[in-house]
Amino acid sequence: MNTFTKSCPICLPGEVTKRCTGCYGMVYCSLACQKKDWKTHKVLCQNLTGFRENDRPSSDSYRCIYFPDNEEKPRFIWLKVSGSEVTDAASDFIEALFPLPHDFSVAHQPIFDTPIFEKEMNHDLWITHRADYLMDVSVPNQSIMSVLGPELGTFFRGPMVVSCCIEKGEDGIAVDASMADYRYALDHFLQRKKSSDIKQHHGVPPWFADLMTWER
Ligand SMILES: [Zn+2]
Ligand SMILES: [Zn+2]
Repeated sequence: MNTFTKSCPICLPGEVTKRCTGCYGMVYCSLACQKKDWKTHKVLCQNLTGFRENDRPSSDSYRCIYFPDNEEKPRFIWLKVSGSEVTDAASDFIEALFPLPHDFSVAHQPIFDTPIFEKEMNHDLWITHRADYLMDVSVPNQSIMSVLGPELGTFFRGPMVVSCCIEKGEDGIAVDASMADYRYALDHFLQRKKSSDIKQHHGVPPWFADLMTWER
């Protein structure tokens, strides 16, 4: 399982020497990096209890990270993959939540490299969300705003699920999302906002800049 990474998720490529003793699920190169991560890590740290190997509800259930649009905090969830891809299970999960007053489709945003250092990861990370969340009636994502700041809600609306898999030929083999994946997802949200700000500065409306990037 990808619970630990070899290099520090905060300052790649620093080597890992420290482990969070709250959850034992996050590793760092130094106390400095642990401190840097604490503000966001502490939100999920206790939640890992209850999502260990022994808690797995079935052998085809995988740990994912859920960013609810109507709750204060992100949290882990188990998604039952049952023969399909973990992203399909994430789609079903999103579709079953608080139905919109009209039909909507679901989209998946892939992350193959760590967002800040652009280092290839040993698994792929997918963010599943409503395809048109900027234009449908989706509300600003409360859990993302509470972790990263209120301005992020302008960019990320509706519920979002982070799932992980390893590419094997045509298929993706699901793996558990780790604390490091949570950090990478947050870094991705921050980077997305930053690139949108730059486009806005150059005269492209932010909603159009988002469409161009997300539906590529
Ligand atoms: Zn570090
Ligand atoms: Zn922890």
